[in-house]
Amino acid sequence: MISIDDIAAFCRRRGFVYPNSEIYGGLAGIFDYGPVGVELKNNIKKEWWKFHVQSREDTVGIDGSIISHPKIWKASGHSDSFEDIMVEDSKTKELFRADLLVEEFLKESMDGKTREELWKLIQQHKIKSHKGNELSKPKGFNLMFSTDVGPKNPIKAYLRPETAQLIFTNFKLITENSRLKLPFGIAQIGKAFRNEIAARNFLFRCREFEQMEIEYFTKPKETKCKFINEVEDYKLKIYSAEMQEKGSPEIEMTIKQALSKKIFKNEWHAYWLATEHKWFISLGINKDNLRIRQHNRKELAHYSSDCWDLEYKFPFGFKEVEGIADRSDYDLKQHIEHSKKDLSLFDDELKQKIVPYVVAEPSLGVDRAFLIFLFEAYEYNKERENVVLKLHPKLSPIKVGIFPLVKNKPQIVKKAREVYDFLKNEFVCDYDDSGSIGRRYSRQDEIGTFLGCTIDFETLKDKSVTLRDRDTTKQIRVKIDELKEIIKKLINEEIKFEKAGKLIK
Ligand code: ATP
Repeated sequence: MISIDDIAAFCRRRGFVYPNSEIYGGLAGIFDYGPVGVELKNNIKKEWWKFHVQSREDTVGIDGSIISHPKIWKASGHSDSFEDIMVEDSKTKELFRADLLVEEFLKESMDGKTREELWKLIQQHKIKSHKGNELSKPKGFNLMFSTDVGPKNPIKAYLRPETAQLIFTNFKLITENSRLKLPFGIAQIGKAFRNEIAARNFLFRCREFEQMEIEYFTKPKETKCKFINEVEDYKLKIYSAEMQEKGSPEIEMTIKQALSKKIFKNEWHAYWLATEHKWFISLGINKDNLRIRQHNRKELAHYSSDCWDLEYKFPFGFKEVEGIADRSDYDLKQHIEHSKKDLSLFDDELKQKIVPYVVAEPSLGVDRAFLIFLFEAYEYNKERENVVLKLHPKLSPIKVGIFPLVKNKPQIVKKAREVYDFLKNEFVCDYDDSGSIGRRYSRQDEIGTFLGCTIDFETLKDKSVTLRDRDTTKQIRVKIDELKEIIKKLINEEIKFEKAGKLIK
């Protein structure tokens, strides 16, 4: 597998992601997305929204603000306790996140460990900084960025460290506007900001990033999921808290088996874990590289009865890509208490007001998802002597590269322009006429362009073009009239490439 530094260099070279403010020396943990990066990122968000919101009757979406009233963060607990624990290299003064440093050393999760516990472990195991120097006593550091709102007597506000809270504060209006009946979900995609102690590993840990989150609400303490039969036979790698305690590896099993072994406390939680896992698989992630890991008791937030992470096998080990927590009625109750507003719902069956439970909060970072789709797609092809980025066609930044075979024959150029104009409103296309056709193919392969469409002398005679498949380099001849339909079916995996036209190579 390619290393994280090499993927960062590849992203910069090919226009996926740039280090922010590079001409001024850069700003750690902040990144800009380049021309093909923004297309890939938008496609990830589009696919997530389609799958989680538009194709579900029980879910609606919102787009909350980045800056909001500071009382929100008081109620949620973030302004008092959203902190990480840091230690300092006594000589170089470099800062480290204490839990991650100890974790690296002891090779076990340190999630949920207190300052004192981490300090004990540092002393007990004589843990040093990366440079081999003594470490300072751990200190807490609040991760929220603050700002001033208004010119006179400004209010100290925060940039949101997660998108979720806006769903709770708007809960009453959303449910009324959308006539939602439990169970239902409210989803959101948006920026979040965390002043991470040590922003490392490229997009994995940034200070400005995006999240795609759902709060899924049910009646209090409801455990039976009405969709469970959709996922019962679904198989995935499960790494429960008990397996971790016993030191045994993760086990592949079906949701049904895990439920019968009481690994999940709640069918709803099981349903959401399988659903999130399925989404990644549907977009080309290899099953072997994913597992779900349960938090142990110490890692759990005090209000959470169960929490699982969907983890991906990065070059630096299995790490969280998405958290799926059971948050009970904690957040709504906190906002009821702090705002003194009624955020309960009337339950027609129980004939009383209830405060719904968040039985699952799937929370996925867009940038981490972007990174794993790249890791999965990246392949250096020895025969072709270039990188082939085998992204799922739905995610490919450019769907079709349009290539006139030669650029000095006006009839070919005219026809190629016609094909480009014909396709560009439907698919993201790139008109590329510079260099040899082989050079153009490999340039597009590197950025994951799904299909190459070459306009040649034959095209002038029979109104057909050559379509080339990025992954296999197979080529078919297709009539221009049928191009749109065929490309659409290929992107949606409704037909096999070889069957889509007359195979010529
Ligand atoms: P970690 O333990 O890695 O710091 P977390 O448990 O604090 O992550 P959550 O608060 O559960 O993360 O956030 C949900 C998701 O948001 C994460 O699974 C991840 O995909 C994303 N995320 C969180 N922090 C960052 C970050 N600094 N950079 C990029 N993505 C992030």
